[in-house]
Amino acid sequence: MTLQGGGAVLEMRAISKAFPGVVALDGVDFHLRAGEVHVLLGENGAGKSTLMKILSGAYGRDAGEIVLDGQPVIISSPRDAQVLGIATMYQELSLVPQLTVAENILLGHEPARAGVINRAKLRESARRALQDVGLDVDPDRRVDRLGIAEQQMVEVAKALFRRARVLVMDEPTSALTAREIQRLFDVIRRVTASGVAVVYISHRMRELAEIGTRVTVLRDGRAVGTFPLSDISFDALIRLMANREVRDHFPRRRRAPGNELLRLEHLSAVSGVHDVSLTVRQGEIVGLAGLLGAGRTELARVVFGADPSSGGRVLMHGREITPKTPRDAIAAGIGLLPEDRKRQGLVLALSVCENIGLPSLARWSRLGIVSDRREWAAAERWVTDLRIKTPSVAERVVRLSGGTQQKVVLARWLAADARLLVMDEPTRGVDVGAKVEIYELMNRLTDAGAGILMISSELPEVLGMSDRIYVMRHGRIQAELDATAATEERVLQAALGLAS
Ligand code: ADP
Ligand code: MG
Repeated sequence: MTLQGGGAVLEMRAISKAFPGVVALDGVDFHLRAGEVHVLLGENGAGKSTLMKILSGAYGRDAGEIVLDGQPVIISSPRDAQVLGIATMYQELSLVPQLTVAENILLGHEPARAGVINRAKLRESARRALQDVGLDVDPDRRVDRLGIAEQQMVEVAKALFRRARVLVMDEPTSALTAREIQRLFDVIRRVTASGVAVVYISHRMRELAEIGTRVTVLRDGRAVGTFPLSDISFDALIRLMANREVRDHFPRRRRAPGNELLRLEHLSAVSGVHDVSLTVRQGEIVGLAGLLGAGRTELARVVFGADPSSGGRVLMHGREITPKTPRDAIAAGIGLLPEDRKRQGLVLALSVCENIGLPSLARWSRLGIVSDRREWAAAERWVTDLRIKTPSVAERVVRLSGGTQQKVVLARWLAADARLLVMDEPTRGVDVGAKVEIYELMNRLTDAGAGILMISSELPEVLGMSDRIYVMRHGRIQAELDATAATEERVLQAALGLAS
């Protein structure tokens, strides 16, 4: 089979997969053509990741077949998939943090003679692979010293180095700035021009229109249709995904803010925060906009006591509390929904119940003995209340979808009575329906008098949900805008340092 002519290079036929209590995939057909960017669209839990995990050999399937170049193939391990030229970038990056960029790209393919790795060759090959993706980093840098965006580019470089023919990207842009997204798209255009097929999972409609060729919509484990992206409207796609129209993406209920809750005075940190002063009042959502690397996550970590401050003060209710540890921050009523919730926010191996209980265990314990029964009952209340989609509170959070995991983190802070929540990209990697639910929860929190400091790289979200907006740039506050007067242009100008 040749690479042109629009024939399918890869066919997944009638794929089914059940997990205990859930049919994740029910007879799904999925055809991929060489050189296309095929978007997989669907709400959280629709089965997108499962379908791609079957393709990449991470999961087995219950029924169905996979055909590559017209030949049925057996993919029963990630190794099988790799040999067949199928590379997958998961939502959670799979690089080895302690290794260098070059070591990661060439992992398992290191140039060596008599068992001794040729470091010069290693570096040179890596440098070429990095050039292919247009990433300018030192191949000798340790991967854990890179930001998420850079790590992602390293993953693409790694897949290209392995001569992938099918490249699966699960939410590749959720951590990227507009400029980095364009760079990633350039890379995608380059690889598809050479015949590589890309499966692209994302909820960002505007991006899909820009980069996608065709789209397959999954709903509740079924494929509900495949369309050329040029032929179908966003409204139609959203209807297919959700079976209901999501009209109001930003259901912010603005209200008069109450007393001052959080005050930062000239806060600095060596991690990249310079002289930041800001306030959040009760009932208020304050947006923190800026480009990736503007220092927003760094600021969040200092406010939460996860990183030390080097100057300035943090006050809650007018009283200095400048936290030295997260424990200090939690005691002062501050909660954090971290950017990288899989790594920092949730203990993946633990159950929903244990995750919700984490910061408040101390409160429920009597004489140091945690009451399992009360913890369980409380967790069940939150699961019902927040409509957390899980078979039971005993389910391990690693098995839940992104939106559901985010709700578990929220439940944890609600259970702990946090008064101020710092939310770092709260809806990243979350589908439209779950996004609206998270926004509703934010409304509920602020209605109850909590304050929210929301970091977001999505301008419509910042503008749609915030009452006030601070824009950060190079670790400093560049502008403060009232949300009603703010426009995408004004926020961007400040973020880019172009504001007059
Ligand atoms: P999507 O990627 O579209 O959000 P997933 O493929 O992750 O959806 O999930 C589809 C369904 O399968 C969900 O109901 C999810 O909870 C379930 N599921 C996924 N992986 C597992 C697993 N390892 N164990 C149990 N259930 C799972
Ligand atoms: Mg998924």
